[in-house]
Amino acid sequence: MIQTKGYAAQTVESNLAPWNFERRDVGPDDVQLEIIYCGVCHSDLHQIRNDWFPGIFPMVPGHEIVGKVIQTGARVKKFKKGDLAGVGCLVDSCRECKNCKKGLEQYCLNGSVPTYNGRNKDGSPTYGGYSNNIVVHEDFVLHVSEKLSLAAVAPLLCAGITTYSPLRYWKVGKGHKLAVLGLGGLGHMGVKFGVSFGAEVTVLSTSPSKEKDARALGAHKFVLTSDSAQVEAVKETFDFILDTVSAKHDMSFYLSLLATNGTHICVGAPPEPHLIPAFALMGGRKSVSGSGIGGLPETQEMLDYCAEHDIVSDIEIIDIKNIHPAYERMVKGDVRYRFVIDMATL
Ligand code: NAP
Ligand code: ZN
Ligand code: ZN
Repeated sequence: MIQTKGYAAQTVESNLAPWNFERRDVGPDDVQLEIIYCGVCHSDLHQIRNDWFPGIFPMVPGHEIVGKVIQTGARVKKFKKGDLAGVGCLVDSCRECKNCKKGLEQYCLNGSVPTYNGRNKDGSPTYGGYSNNIVVHEDFVLHVSEKLSLAAVAPLLCAGITTYSPLRYWKVGKGHKLAVLGLGGLGHMGVKFGVSFGAEVTVLSTSPSKEKDARALGAHKFVLTSDSAQVEAVKETFDFILDTVSAKHDMSFYLSLLATNGTHICVGAPPEPHLIPAFALMGGRKSVSGSGIGGLPETQEMLDYCAEHDIVSDIEIIDIKNIHPAYERMVKGDVRYRFVIDMATL
């Protein structure tokens, strides 16, 4: 077994603190990474607080992992020692169901294995990237370009793919009016991809202080959702709303901003169910949909697209000791626009 240092929540009530644990030895198909940076996703906080379901404790969060390959198993073909590599939200899946065969491992019909707060096929718990190394089957490890800032690539592994995938699925681009709802970790990547794909992008935000940033990220318009005149001007106008909001919000209000035949895409995962009156959909034949992270082939495609188009996340690097103050700022909407842990501080 491999001795590993990490940060874990021992129970749902406790804060993260240093914790030593063991990872499996590197098997013939495995790659071991030294973790250099790990992004901080709002899902990390949802999960250590059991917002969605009872979690598996001790819990080591983190699924925006980048680092260097330090060991490879005998059968590994795609990676060699010294390569830069990444691990996102998944570390395994059944590989046999029709979704896995299409590269949609995130929708594995037999249950994919999340990077943390899940169980490997042998029943052992998975531990995430707030740690100094990880061992993963090579099929679930991604290539990372040397061209981009490594720390700023980390958030692409979740915030990046979670926004890239639905925009690609719905072919959002030239001629579309896209609203990105919530300018946080996911939202700022949604803006970057929407702009890069040619859509007219509007940020819908509760934070007046983010207008300048939204425009610097490439957004064409900014709407402060507490300002009724600004809201009135965009009623019934958007072809798509990419909803990245992490907390309870009024769906009827946002659906009123969709154009006829428009689609509201939920990627944000508030703990409470949405209330969606049928009337908010019927007037204008509107749809509400959702999208979860992305499969392995599309995650690699997104990373390659980012390398080609020079797209990374806007980040603030933190010491792992400051993870809770960072969570507090995230909850207040004060994240510009992703915290990334420098694992050298572990
Ligand atoms: P984040 O950085 O905290 O950003 C969320 C943003 O939503 C905030 O910055 C804020 O933006 C806005 N917001 C917060 N509370 C709001 C409220 N009550 N009403 C309206 N807007 C509000 O979080 P994140 O890491 O981007 O994650 C966002 C959500 O996506 C989380 O629920 C996370 O679990 C989920 N997620 C889902 C997937 C998936 O596969 N679908 C993957 C990753 C994450 P403004 O200041 O601009 O209003
Ligand atoms: Zn995430
Ligand atoms: Zn499957």
